[in-house]
Amino acid sequence: MDKVGETTLEIDLSALEHNYRYLKYRIEPNTKFLAVVKAFAYGSDMVAIAQKMENLGVDYFAVAYVKEGVSLRKAGIKTPILVLHPQPVNFKELIDHTLEPSLYSPNILKLFLHTAQEQKLKEYPVHIKFNTGLNRLGFWENDVDFIVEQLKGESSLKILSVFSHLAASEDSNESQFSLNQIATFKKISEKLREKLNYTPFRHMLNTSGVLNYPEAQFEMVRSGIGLYGYGNHPDIDAQLKPVATLKTIISQIHKIEPNETVGYNRAFASDGYRTTATLPLGHADGIGRQYGNGKTYLMIHGKKAPIIGNVCMDMIMVDVTDIDCKEGDEVIVFGQNHSAEDFASTANTISYEILTAISPRVKRVISDL
Ligand SMILES: *Cc1c(COP(=O)(O)O)cnc(C)c1O
Repeated sequence: MDKVGETTLEIDLSALEHNYRYLKYRIEPNTKFLAVVKAFAYGSDMVAIAQKMENLGVDYFAVAYVKEGVSLRKAGIKTPILVLHPQPVNFKELIDHTLEPSLYSPNILKLFLHTAQEQKLKEYPVHIKFNTGLNRLGFWENDVDFIVEQLKGESSLKILSVFSHLAASEDSNESQFSLNQIATFKKISEKLREKLNYTPFRHMLNTSGVLNYPEAQFEMVRSGIGLYGYGNHPDIDAQLKPVATLKTIISQIHKIEPNETVGYNRAFASDGYRTTATLPLGHADGIGRQYGNGKTYLMIHGKKAPIIGNVCMDMIMVDVTDIDCKEGDEVIVFGQNHSAEDFASTANTISYEILTAISPRVKRVISDL
């Protein structure tokens, strides 16, 4: 990539392809693969990512909300799209764009069935979500009879799949809990499949599930973070390539004398002669104030430049006293050569949060080499 002239999120589609192939190699050849592209494909570029994944032959997409699925359809994506968390107010729009809802509660099932009947739909594909311990969204085991009662002999809807979600798939200390969730899901899905006169496919694993519980891949897996280059474990991170790299440049360099302060609230006070660099990037771009005051560093010419003082809305100041650099030079915030997981951990958060925080103000540049 050329040197950036402003704050830029570079999106590397060849890294995406590498990660996809790695995850595919970790599952059975006939297991379907769903790419999770919610939240702008984890803060990158939803349409570019989905087009690439569609070209690679992915089986399914998932988004959280209906409007995300609508954007994909408007961009010409033809692959089936599961909407994980639809709201009744958007059901008509969902149907108009052939999006497939997750039905996760008696209320949502009844309301969607009502809409489907009103619109005279025939075997419209839906997915039934069961809660097996995350206690976030999903039917309970004792809702199976209700679901069957509502849908048996009902021609407007067809249950394409049943699924659930692990609460702690990345945490080996919680493996007994995860195994219990898997056993519960098996039991519930068998019960449902017995009572229907057809056989929906099943899926439960997210990225860390694929890596830690491959025996529970059923007929499909759902991966998000792994596709974007992070695996919630250093050994996995070593196999994957970050898709998004956030870069910026040095706008101005200052020489600071002893006992001067830098930034709002005079939060940084110099203990000697210091050189600082001001960058065109701030909390409005997604780098929150929790990263300020020495917690986190950025990379300039391969060296660590700690953020000093408070992060401003549109600017960050870093200490470059020991780095040979000048105005216009490139700065790596996170990504390839400085992982988003490491960046996030300095402020006690996770790669998912920093990746999805990068605001639309930041220019996206796509490469596919
Ligand atoms: C976001 C999400 C995923 C993807 O999880 P990763 O850890 O990013 O792989 C899978 N399933 C559901 C239900 C989700 O909400």
